[in-house]
Amino acid sequence: MRLSRYFLPTLKETPADAQIASHRLMLRAGMIRQGAAGIYSWLPLGHRVLKKVEAIVREEQDQAGALEMLMPTIQSADLWSESGRYDDYGKEMLRIEDRHGRKMLFGPTNEELITDIFRREIKSYKDLPKNLYHIQWKFRDEIRPRFGVMRGREFLMKDAYSFDLSAEDGVKSYNAMFVAYLRTFARLGVKAIPMRADTGPIGGDLSHEFIVLAETGESEVYFDKGFNDFDPMAANPSDGENLQPVVDQWTSLYAATDEMHEPDSAQAVGKNLVQGRGIEVGHIFFFGDKYSKPMKAEVQGPDGKTVAVQMGSYGVGVSRLVGAIIEACHDENGIVWPESVAPFKVGLINLATKDEACTAACDKIYADLSGAGIEVLYDDRATGAGAKFSNMDLIGLPWQIVLGNRGFQNGIVELKNRATGEREEVAIDEIVARVTGN
Ligand code: ATP
Ligand code: MG
Repeated sequence: MRLSRYFLPTLKETPADAQIASHRLMLRAGMIRQGAAGIYSWLPLGHRVLKKVEAIVREEQDQAGALEMLMPTIQSADLWSESGRYDDYGKEMLRIEDRHGRKMLFGPTNEELITDIFRREIKSYKDLPKNLYHIQWKFRDEIRPRFGVMRGREFLMKDAYSFDLSAEDGVKSYNAMFVAYLRTFARLGVKAIPMRADTGPIGGDLSHEFIVLAETGESEVYFDKGFNDFDPMAANPSDGENLQPVVDQWTSLYAATDEMHEPDSAQAVGKNLVQGRGIEVGHIFFFGDKYSKPMKAEVQGPDGKTVAVQMGSYGVGVSRLVGAIIEACHDENGIVWPESVAPFKVGLINLATKDEACTAACDKIYADLSGAGIEVLYDDRATGAGAKFSNMDLIGLPWQIVLGNRGFQNGIVELKNRATGEREEVAIDEIVARVTGN
């Protein structure tokens, strides 16, 4: 992508109303703009990152055996009256009336709708287990939307729902999601700690929150040093039968947020705990028949008797993750994207746009890299070097390739690693192979 043709409205100044790094950086890097409190447009650069996060979340859900579908944002209030949550959900629910005076709502979550779909179609234990998910915008009229996309009112969530015949099978489905979550966050380049959580208004008995570590996180967290020794990528979530030991390995270690426990700092050092801050990026629940019973989502079991199915629900804050990744991955100059979610892999800077030969060399690097399937943002604008460098650091692409007059004469470009700051001189005719790893 040529920057001269792109839409990247970066800001030099720090926006006054943004209190945390990710919010400031997302505004400054031209990723998002606010439409109303807690409601954002995703500009092209932000949109690319959002889609990459979404794609990794999707791949891991698919690999764990969950089936993607898409439910609407607008729901009928009737189903929520059946479960009792139309009244219970309170002011966070955006209630709408259509022209016929029917009560509608903008979905804050989808337990009721998915349970309705399930109960209409599935009647036998032979069709179980099932895990259905979608990635869809949610609306919650948060009392204090803040921190940009981290606590928005409209936000993108992946929510999955599992259906099993027995509680024992339900726990297997839960474990598959548990492992898929750990893998998802590892692939996104962040460290997430699973913490046993209260089930809150969703109800039920088994629940974990996944907390990404970042100094600016909303919650204070305490966790066992042992978490550092585990590699989530070693576990295979499609291996449902054998996941319990893997999950036990993680859940046997102590981890808590300040809302759940209040071990004071001294106690933390006693207990061999690491103390830090974190951001909730995912939340999983096993809640048995809490919805299936009142809503009569029942199947016939092997013995011919009808039973309410055992359900779980599993949420990932996809749009929140974009902010959380930035909180965990930035420095004083801007964002430092993990490669897996970077909007482009390479930023190519032409410092001599008036020099035809140098520009031709840059154009060729751009064409060759693009041809090799590398995503390149090519700064071909006739602006000053300082602005180009600071802009590229701000938007945080993993690699920068810089070509100027002097380098061109000597046949070399500079290759900079954004994360380490290391610079290296590479021959112009070797740069494509160097970046593509050939
Ligand atoms: P929180 O305690 O942060 O309000 P929650 O417990 O209400 O979260 P869930 O209902 O479990 O959240 O939703 C699943 C995931 O959706 C959360 O783990 C979080 O990552 C994300 N999420 C929830 N509320 C918001 C929001 N207002 N803005 C952005 N993401 C959100
Ligand atoms: Mg909430």
